[in-house]
Amino acid sequence: MVAAANEKQLLVGGKWIQTGDWLDVRSPYSGEVVGRVAKAGADETRNAIDAAERAMQDPLPAHKRAEILVRVAGALGRRHEEAAKLISDEAGKPLKAARVEAARAMSTYTFAAVEARKLAGEMVPMDAAQAGEGKLAFTLRRPIGVVGAISPFNFPLNLVAHKLAPALAAGCAVVLKPASQTPLSALLLAELEQEAGLPPGWVNVVVGKASEIGDALVDDERVKLITFTGSGTVGWELKQRAPKKRVNLELGNATPVIVAADADVSLAATKVAQNAFSFAGQSCISVQRVYVERAVYDTFVAELLPLVEALKVGDPAEEDTDVGPVIDEGARERILDWIGSTHGEVLTGGSLDGELIRPTVIANPPADDKVSCEEVFGPVCTVTSVDSVEEAIDLANGTRYGLQAGIFTSSLDNALRAAQELEFGGVTVNEAPTFRSDQMPYGGVKDSGNTREGPRYAVREMTEERLVVVDLP
Ligand code: NAP
Repeated sequence: MVAAANEKQLLVGGKWIQTGDWLDVRSPYSGEVVGRVAKAGADETRNAIDAAERAMQDPLPAHKRAEILVRVAGALGRRHEEAAKLISDEAGKPLKAARVEAARAMSTYTFAAVEARKLAGEMVPMDAAQAGEGKLAFTLRRPIGVVGAISPFNFPLNLVAHKLAPALAAGCAVVLKPASQTPLSALLLAELEQEAGLPPGWVNVVVGKASEIGDALVDDERVKLITFTGSGTVGWELKQRAPKKRVNLELGNATPVIVAADADVSLAATKVAQNAFSFAGQSCISVQRVYVERAVYDTFVAELLPLVEALKVGDPAEEDTDVGPVIDEGARERILDWIGSTHGEVLTGGSLDGELIRPTVIANPPADDKVSCEEVFGPVCTVTSVDSVEEAIDLANGTRYGLQAGIFTSSLDNALRAAQELEFGGVTVNEAPTFRSDQMPYGGVKDSGNTREGPRYAVREMTEERLVVVDLP
């Protein structure tokens, strides 16, 4: 069961505003309205940019920014269950996964607070060159300016935290546009920042028509950086349309895992079962493609299938649910279509359990099947037998994506070869590539993006280096 509908206004310039127009937020599981949010357009977005610009004219010192970030982390700790419930209601995320997300958001704010206090430039060794003799030089890290942040539905709290917290640590005001399907968690974070003492204008949240809000952020020269997490189609187009801004992209993946013949096969099967279907596969690093050396393929599949079939599919609000709904009917139809069109063998799943897609494992699909080369973003993984780790690496590299990949092996040679040859932003060894801890540098190469998040790295992106040269007497 979902919570009673709650009504939320937008935060612009420190004021909660109505617009006369509303957007319903529905549970992806039951279709019930779980909240409604005032709907913004280009005008509210421009007002929000005005407010952000005004806020930055009165900079907040680093210790105050750090104190606010710490207070938000504390509030998230105190309101953990409420935050988890909100994520679960609006995204359809099983409660146990929603609790992990809420705890991670606290960690993201805590790390951002540390970065706010550490933010500093560096000394330049001037007398290392003849031209520099007699000079002292150092750099300052200055906030880049107003940040436009756009976030997806699948981690509605923690991925918003990964935008708001580093921006504040860097000294930047933000105009945030959360996903229309999941704006409630974002508004909760904005509320917590305000309660923590953030002055007006430093965080503004506008919810509404994506293209209208996106255009306003792209067109306004005062927005110096757009930080976008979502699909490649939208992200790369935004970057193309804003050549004078920094446009940082965190995009999708078709996450591969290699299981070498010398791996702990039980560990690999357990990790794949846990990480291919959690939140119905709707994580950008959900395990999707598993390449298993032939010698252990049958054992691996025999261990994996019972674990997958034991996952509980159902209401995300129930404590023991592992796999809930995908975000909407369109996504469900697309995923079923991709399963239906595969040339691989469906070993389990492939059909509906009520309205929900059962966890699905497909054996040996060709490399050009949709489930092999595109991001499924659903409760589906493939298992493919290969002759060698080398072949597995080639297949893993064979898509346009490059976010995270993993290998299970007991050989140092295999592990180091994978670390060097997998063309991804991150490689995990004896851990599923779905693993993320919030201080890590996280981001992709190829079509998966062009930046790294994690407060330390995001703060670097959200600041500019200014050189100061002093002539010594
Ligand atoms: P999406 O459809 O691209 O939406 C992401 C955000 O962009 C939403 O806020 C959306 O608004 C907005 N948007 C859509 N069209 C826009 C436009 N023309 N201008 C400006 N903003 C626009 O992605 P999604 O379905 O929410 O998320 C799933 C994707 O995100 C997957 O590909 C997943 O892999 C990726 N992802 C990547 C990471 C990472 O860290 N690398 C993390 C999580 C998810 P509306 O909601 O109003 O349409």
